[in-house]
Amino acid sequence: MRLLLIGPPGSGKGTQGARLAARLGIEHIAAGDLLRAEVKAETPLGRQVTALMQRGDLVPDEVILSLLLPKVLAAAEANGYLLDGFPRSVDQAVEARKLAEQAGASPDHVIYLDVPREELMRRILARAEIEGRADDNPETVANRLKVFEEATHPLVDYYRERGLLRVVDANQDQDAVTEAILGALDAE
Ligand code: AMP
Repeated sequence: MRLLLIGPPGSGKGTQGARLAARLGIEHIAAGDLLRAEVKAETPLGRQVTALMQRGDLVPDEVILSLLLPKVLAAAEANGYLLDGFPRSVDQAVEARKLAEQAGASPDHVIYLDVPREELMRRILARAEIEGRADDNPETVANRLKVFEEATHPLVDYYRERGLLRVVDANQDQDAVTEAILGALDAE
């Protein structure tokens, strides 16, 4: 199975991604985690994206694609993948589609985690206390939500038109969300 998990910051992509990948026996590939690992290791790529990530802006398409593509293609050849946090824009989706199609690695389902904005703020600020992520402060969060609305939300229509989209109510406890996603996949 090849899955994309999209949703605003704080919608639970990371948590649900890890759980679902384990349940489905596929590889969890998290765009933000891979970028944070590059920043932490102070690689040239990490240095290039540090300031952008701290502001909550998107990193350049070619950077994220070069990081993800080899992992996605390898996972597609094995048992499949669950990709969380990519694509973040229609441009990224179009570019990835060209590359993945040639390799028979295109996604077969796209899950959208739907959560009201006030709940997102609450969750992210609670997470900030526990995880201390550099981009979980109030100003950066506001920018990340804006970037989501402007750049990422148009993917909902893009994937709906292609018949791939399943919207899941992610304003529930974590177990209920996991079951709702598995239910949406079963309903295919
Ligand atoms: P996340 O952990 O998914 O919330 O991502 C954290 C940050 O990594 C984002 O705010 C962006 O700066 C960057 N990022 C993650 N995924 C992408 C992507 N697909 N395209 C561009 N930037 C990304």
